[in-house]
Amino acid sequence: MRFEGTGASPGTALGRAVVFVHRLSGAGAPENPAGVFLGAEEELARFRGAVKTVHALLLDLAKEGEKKFGADKAGIFEGYAEILTDGEIEESARAFIAGGLSAAGAGQKIMEDLAGEWENMEGPYMAQRASDLRDLGRKLSLAASGGQAPELPVLSEPSILVADELSPFETAALDHRLLKALALDSGGSTGHAAILARSLGIPCAVGLGGASSLVKSGEFCALDGDKGFFILNPGQDEIEIFSSGEEGRAVFTPLPETVRTRDGVSISVCANIGSAGEAALAKERGADGVGLLRTEFLYMNSLPGEDEQYAAYARILEILDGKPLTIRTMDIGGDKEFPALALAREENPFLGYRAIRIGLKERGVFKTQLRAVLRASALGKTELMFPMIISPGELKEAKALFEECRKELDQEGLAQGRPPVGIMIETPAAALMAGELAAEADFFSLGTNDLTQYTLAVDRGNPQVASLYDPLNPAVLRLMAVSADAAAKAGIPAGICGELAGDEAALPLLLGLGLVKLSLSGPKIPLIKETIQKLDTDSCRALARKALSRASAGEVRALLQRFP
Ligand code: PEP
Ligand code: MG
Repeated sequence: MRFEGTGASPGTALGRAVVFVHRLSGAGAPENPAGVFLGAEEELARFRGAVKTVHALLLDLAKEGEKKFGADKAGIFEGYAEILTDGEIEESARAFIAGGLSAAGAGQKIMEDLAGEWENMEGPYMAQRASDLRDLGRKLSLAASGGQAPELPVLSEPSILVADELSPFETAALDHRLLKALALDSGGSTGHAAILARSLGIPCAVGLGGASSLVKSGEFCALDGDKGFFILNPGQDEIEIFSSGEEGRAVFTPLPETVRTRDGVSISVCANIGSAGEAALAKERGADGVGLLRTEFLYMNSLPGEDEQYAAYARILEILDGKPLTIRTMDIGGDKEFPALALAREENPFLGYRAIRIGLKERGVFKTQLRAVLRASALGKTELMFPMIISPGELKEAKALFEECRKELDQEGLAQGRPPVGIMIETPAAALMAGELAAEADFFSLGTNDLTQYTLAVDRGNPQVASLYDPLNPAVLRLMAVSADAAAKAGIPAGICGELAGDEAALPLLLGLGLVKLSLSGPKIPLIKETIQKLDTDSCRALARKALSRASAGEVRALLQRFP
């Protein structure tokens, strides 16, 4: 049986499947649907049981949290545990259940109502905590319907993971050494699961439809991450084709340090990484440094303290051994969930509470990170980068916090460096305000993954609109061009760290726009370095001018194919 999807990370794999499906273990599991009313007595008993379960969970979190980030912060979990045992909660549950709501529905409704009250209270603090209450509501509902948070499978042998979907945190938490390939029902090739897979050199196909519901763990299967298909029980012919190919992780040959175009323009080719392990791989592949450290992966299980973050950045700097490291502040939200902050589920997470927006609200959490970056920057070449900026005001506010941290560290007598401060250009607003932003920023990095989705109004993870998602769409290119031009005018460097940076066909266009730094998923680094050396910037500029006047991505692609 063959499933067609989209290739998201190159390479092929043959092996046994391990299936991971969220919907079977979440609320609404078939044996116990959340919305079905089982009678008032039974529902009330379920509600009490759910309160007990979540209460115990919160106390565990408090205990764990005390070790990780101190008693004051961990105390918040105890606070929520107390709310749950408040007599009024049971009273409300009784009333809602008498009115016909299931225990799961009552749990969610009670917390939603309370969250609404908190939102209307004075001051931002309580409003912020309202999202925690909504999360509590979801936990109650899940517990009442007999569901459990899905548990990642533990891989015991090299396997192909077949899943309905995979959050970036789940992808990061898997044992990569035993992961032969990833086959996902949903997702797009610039979703974060796909980006991580590319970065780790694990073949991946996305948008495979119902693969995860038809495959059983242990079944033999094959995956092609270039062409984007997945085969359950491949026939002998197919096995031979797969076996004769280069199975597994993409091979690479490291290339010389910084490369130049034929006319001598030096282009820095760096890696996008999310962990120290990837830094080591990037270095082996000949990266000139790290152009994007996705720090959000440090926040996967809990809020990392300053020392923990400092140690993580220091470790990466040590691996990079003198090569530069661009640390992007936490880009939480969007498709990257963040259990430690218990963010509310949103209708439009990519348009919601995300990245710098969280940083500017959760100032304590943000400053912890800024302090860690400042301290680490005393150890090696470091840059700081803010994600999802939409206005000069946001950048100024973030820089003011950075300044505050600098002063604090001075007063405390702790060593710190002076990292340049730049921004991602990943919203149309930032591109259109690039002149004003360039006056405040030390560098730009074009985040074309998000810039494409926001410019074209196409969710980057939605396979149904995947055909519309194209960073070569001239609308996106024009925004990239105005940003690069504004940077050049202000005399600051502009680079790119979106996935487009790893597309060798687009490379002449990127150089033609004036980008001097490319940051990409590790496996493509040698190829991109090799290609740069064959190009000259004059003809790249002429090509870019032509591309910007084209009317569609198809026309741009045709132009690139005919180049030089
Ligand atoms: C981007 O949006 O292009 C980017 C590099 O950031 P991320 O993929 O982490 O959203
Ligand atoms: Mg982005």
